[in-house]
Amino acid sequence: AASRIPLMAGNWKMNLNHAEAVVLVQKLAWTLSDKRHDYGKVEVAVIPPFTDLRSVQTLVDGDRLSIRYGAQDVSPYAGGAYTGEISAAMLAKLGCSYVVVGHSERRQYHAETDEVVNAKAKAALGAKMTPIVCVGEGLEVRQAGEHVPYTMAQVEGSLAGLSKAQVGGLVIAYEPVWAIGTGEVATPDDAQEVCAAIRGQVRESYGDEAADAVRILYGGSVKAANVAGIMAKADVDGALVGGASLEADEFGGICRFY
Ligand code: PEP
Repeated sequence: AASRIPLMAGNWKMNLNHAEAVVLVQKLAWTLSDKRHDYGKVEVAVIPPFTDLRSVQTLVDGDRLSIRYGAQDVSPYAGGAYTGEISAAMLAKLGCSYVVVGHSERRQYHAETDEVVNAKAKAALGAKMTPIVCVGEGLEVRQAGEHVPYTMAQVEGSLAGLSKAQVGGLVIAYEPVWAIGTGEVATPDDAQEVCAAIRGQVRESYGDEAADAVRILYGGSVKAANVAGIMAKADVDGALVGGASLEADEFGGICRFY
């Protein structure tokens, strides 16, 4: 992971009211301004609900710490008669750097297929934002020992048709579904096994440059207390954090994993 800048991204999911969201960004900025720690080594991003993005933009614009931010989803369509959808252009206009696509909760509760995830990734890239493409197996697949081929198929489908340069600029998040929100974090070796397999597949399909550049995150019950072991692994370039990102001190602890 040496040449890749680690990314810690906090996925707030459908939590916090607007005032709480504003307070959390401010507290996080305060935490990251603590000179006793070298937060400059890590890129920090928050992924709030759509309705907070305008306020987050205002807060972060005036913030020399350059917290980045992104959205939890995006429409695959450019615009038009798609009631309830939010386009990539709209998110880009709000200053989003990132868009999470294919989170397991979207795959599970909104029946998102790799094809849909792929279309959303392309929409984000088309608006010059970085997709955070989520993949990962459920418990049954893990118990059957099929987690690597299962996840590789998701990677192949979700990245289909992207150029080598586009893949090199991506963030891919390996999030085993059994570890999300359960408190059951994957072991560092489990995380490394699949993250290394993802990088290997990217190398095979898109070449060395893309494989060496693409950032691969682990996600699933990451906390300040368990992040160091996971981050010590060669192919883990950061974390996608759910529950523990809702508290500035805890997320700050994750951001100073080193
Ligand atoms: C997530 O939803 O992306 C996630 C990793 O959640 P948690 O950290 O709460 O397991």
